[in-house]
Amino acid sequence: MMPHTLFISDLHLSADQPQITKLLLTFLQHEAPHSEALYILGDLFEYWIGDDAVAPEHQTVLASLHQLTKKSTPVYIMHGNRDFLMGHHFEAQTGCQLINDPTIIDLYGTPTLLMHGDTLCSDDKEYQQFRSVVRNLQWQQNFLEKSANDRTSIANHYRRESRAQSSNKPEKIMDVNNDTVEKIMNQHNVLQLIHGHTHRPAIHEGQTKQRRVVLGDWFKQGSFLRCNENGCHLESWNKTS
Ligand code: MN
Repeated sequence: MMPHTLFISDLHLSADQPQITKLLLTFLQHEAPHSEALYILGDLFEYWIGDDAVAPEHQTVLASLHQLTKKSTPVYIMHGNRDFLMGHHFEAQTGCQLINDPTIIDLYGTPTLLMHGDTLCSDDKEYQQFRSVVRNLQWQQNFLEKSANDRTSIANHYRRESRAQSSNKPEKIMDVNNDTVEKIMNQHNVLQLIHGHTHRPAIHEGQTKQRRVVLGDWFKQGSFLRCNENGCHLESWNKTS
């Protein structure tokens, strides 16, 4: 197989959905080692309350990531809106490298902007307001000083809120705003953008030669993107053993 790079996002790993963890473990073991690099563009975990309080169900994933980075493949990971508290200890434990949102990479000759995608949903004012609160460093320091139990309760509270609010919001508000997409792509002078977050996998070819690749989630099957010098293709991973 020709040299290629893999992208995944929005796995939302949690104790509630052990089959997704299982699916990811086989992906990390059988698919990822053949790639030049694996990018995880946010929301690997349903929530992450700090590197000092890793839930037991995530230990196998951390070990598997470590094995991958040690043996064969660099793994780059971006914060999502769920797991933005992953920090340096997580990096040390897994060998993964945290990257900023956004990051520009050279993808086989094409400058490509990588994002999680939540900041592109600029019509969702309520979410953007919430985001600015929890992405504040002071807020994060206060949060990390609480006990693991308290942090878990707060995270679960936000998960419930988010679910309740999402079910009331029109579909369109929860998608990206096209003007915001165009603006950020122009700002960074790129013709290609890869992001997740909306769980609406697609490759959108714009009229102005701008291409927007949207990664899918892992709730039903493992949606991943494979890119090589000929382009990018969305594929599904469904091997559980
Ligand atoms: Mn997200």
